[in-house]
This record gives sequence, structure tokens and C-alpha cells, in this order.
Amino acid sequence: MPPKTSCQHTKLHLSTSPHAAEAGYTHPAPSVLSKATTTARKITASIPQPTTFPAPLVLPNDDLSIDPKYPPQSLLSWKRLKERNPITSIRNKIYYLNLPVRSSDAPDFQRWAIPIDPETKSQVCGTPSPEWEDVVNYLSTFFHPLELVEYPSITAISKWSSKSKFLALSTSSSRSAVQLRTRPSPDGPESSCYTHQLSLLDILDFAIEILPGDAYTLIVFTHHDLYESDEDDFCIGRAFGGSRVCVVSSARYHPFSEQLAGVGCDEFGGKGHDWPGSHCAEFVQRMCQGSEEPSREKQKTKITKDPKVTGHSPENTPMYRAIAAHISENSVVKHHEYQRSIWLSRICKTASHELLHCFGLDHCTYYACVMQGTTSILEDTRQPFYLCPIDQAKLKEALAGRDGNIGKLSKEQWELEWCNRMRIYCGEIVNRDISVGWRPIIAWLEGRIEELEGGSGTAGTKEDPIEVE
Ligand SMILES: [Zn+2]
Ligand SMILES: [Zn+2]
Repeated sequence: MPPKTSCQHTKLHLSTSPHAAEAGYTHPAPSVLSKATTTARKITASIPQPTTFPAPLVLPNDDLSIDPKYPPQSLLSWKRLKERNPITSIRNKIYYLNLPVRSSDAPDFQRWAIPIDPETKSQVCGTPSPEWEDVVNYLSTFFHPLELVEYPSITAISKWSSKSKFLALSTSSSRSAVQLRTRPSPDGPESSCYTHQLSLLDILDFAIEILPGDAYTLIVFTHHDLYESDEDDFCIGRAFGGSRVCVVSSARYHPFSEQLAGVGCDEFGGKGHDWPGSHCAEFVQRMCQGSEEPSREKQKTKITKDPKVTGHSPENTPMYRAIAAHISENSVVKHHEYQRSIWLSRICKTASHELLHCFGLDHCTYYACVMQGTTSILEDTRQPFYLCPIDQAKLKEALAGRDGNIGKLSKEQWELEWCNRMRIYCGEIVNRDISVGWRPIIAWLEGRIEELEGGSGTAGTKEDPIEVE
């Protein structure tokens, strides 16, 4: 095992990892990436620099490593998707609902949302959970101009019946209740700090049941841990896009839960390998060391060095700016606000991911992207907050259904507007007491805004071959 040294993340790995080829994943050729971004027959789109939009890492046991041939969803295939709901003049609001943390007739319910230290068996106090309001504001910015509206009725959790072990979900305006199954956590108490979980399928059933007539979609937030089926240990978020509903849990992003899962203390070089530290070259190499060495033949075609950057110096590119901000953040002493701030950033990312499923977006196989699939908390934390150009094009097209003017903007104009809005929102977060986890996001956005304003949104990459080792 390699020594536990702390790496400095100074060199970035922006192509797929050495493991990708072995797992059977091939990063699409520039012409494929370019074609996937447009519905035009003639390919005019050039592909962006990897210093802005790196390839997916595909580390061992990552989603794409397990399912390397997962079908990609181009802009065109998204457009043609039958189950996709367009935004209409009637259905155009994003509703959100915070599941109650308490239940007056099921006193245990509240305790299930509080992490328990498996060693001491005592409740983990300290870091207060982030405000859902901050998540809502993030989503309002991300999905502008769609309006986020709080679900108008009060939701209650009660016992299904006095003898039943099931709980019931109801709203003050609905006549019937929906059954809510629960179970003891299968991965605890050794590796989970939650004793019980709620069935996310039941929560989604409930959401479908109460969906308002003018809802484009309804997102349910909960602090409780979730499960989907007997096969899984836990689930953080899930969307039934066609049915317009999704649910996100904050539980597994609790700093204590993340610590148990090994986030921030990986065996290869210490902390800080959540995004953008996930692209640290030393980390990527070490993570792939256990996997077989690719043959020389494969190396020639698949393994790339850090791509050559043309036109501008790498320090000013979004990824290098983000890593610089990340390094300076990681030198900060940990305290509760630090942890809460990261916690918030994780929930925001997953909430946007689940909502995007409601827009018909499938998991991304093209780039490191907020729409990547994920199989573990560790992989989740390695993924970025931003949309790759292909998924950004889908969002633009979807939102044009709300505001026709969006349809008239060029891809670059739209992305610039999106980045500017996000930059302002994240700036507001940082100006409050919370900031860690957000500065790399701001740094990336600023780098991207500069590229787009300078007209180099996809500069010099059209036929730029990536340097091959
Ligand atoms: Zn997903
Ligand atoms: Zn993507």
C-alpha cells in the first residue's frame, strides 16, 4: 500500500483515468462530442478544452467503470425522448416540499434522522443541518426562469394505525394518506450512523398523489435516510422523471456520515479529493494502481497526458482556478460552519441532478458533469456541480419552453447568462458565514465567464489533437 502522504493537487488529470480503457470505457471522439451538442445536421460546434470540461474520470468501481457501455444521451436523443415532459404555459412551476422531521404520534421518527456514533452509541450533535431555503435558492438560480414554489399544504407523518408498524404520509388538504414503509438500516451500525430508513418509493408515490395541476415537477426534501429496495444499502436521491417527481435526502451528506464513509480521508494521500481535487493527477494514478496495467497498444490510443492548453495559460482556466481555490480552502481549520457549508453544496448538487432527471436528462457519459451516474458517496463527492455542454444545451432547450427569448440566444450567450447568475448566487453564499466548498465553484464559474466573454468558449479545440503519451 502506498504511504499515506498528503498530495498537493498541483497537477491535474483531465482525461479519463488509466483504468477507463481496462474497464471498457472509451471517451467519445471529438466529432462525436461535437455532434451530441447540436441538432443541426452539419457539425459546427467545436468541443471545449478539457481544462474547462474534463472527461469523466472512470475510476475503479465508478458508475461508468461498472457500466462502461451505458447508452449516451445526445441532445437529439433527449429531444426525441417520448417520456420527456415539455414545460408548458400550464405546467411550469417547480414545487418543493420539506418532509417533516417530527411526528406527534410516532416519537421514534425524529430520532431516526439524527446520526448515532457507532462506537459510542450516542447521538452526534454539533453541525446543524443546512437550511432548505438555501437549497431552494440555489435551484431557483440553476433553473431560472422557472419559479420554485413551496407546496401549499402542511404535510404530516403519523402512524398508519395504532397497531400497524407502518407510517402514513398525508397533507392537510388531501383526503387519503399514503403508506410509508420503514426499515432498520442494513449497513449499520458498523458503517451507518442512522438506525432507520424510509422507503423512497413510498415518498415518490405520495408526491405523485399530491402533484399540483400547475407543477412541472415536485421535489421532496428530507433529512431522513432513504432506501429503494432490498438490494441497496441506502439511497440519496431518486427521480421518476416521467411522473415529474423526485426526492433528495441530506442524511448521507452529514459530515459525520461522510466521515464514516471515508470521504476526505481516502487511503491515497489524505484529504481533498472531492471535486475539484478529484482531478488531482497523483490521486488518479494511485486510485488506478491496483488495477491492471494497460497494454502498450492500449496506452498509445487511450491514455493521454494532461492535455495541451492552447490560446491561454492553464492557470486562468476554470479547472486550474477551481483547484487553486480548493487548495487554499483545504488549509482552513475544520469547524462546524466549514462542514455545514460543504454539506449544503453536496445537497444542492444532488437536488439539481434529480430535478434534471425530471427534465428528461439521463446520466451523462460524455464528460465529468453533474449528470454523471454514481455508485457511492465517494464517487458522488468527486463529481462537479456544472453541466457539460451537451447537458447545458438540453437545459437551454427545455427552459426555452418557459421563455421564448432563451431559444433565441446562442449556446454561448445562454451559458454566459447561466454562469453569471450562478456566480452571483454562490457569491452571496460566500459572503455569509459559510463559504467552504463554494469557492472552487465560484472560481470555475469565473474562469468560464472569462472564456465566454472573451469569445473563447470553445477556443482552439476544434481539431486540436490531445497529446498522446
Ligand atoms: Zn441520476
Ligand atoms: Zn453531461
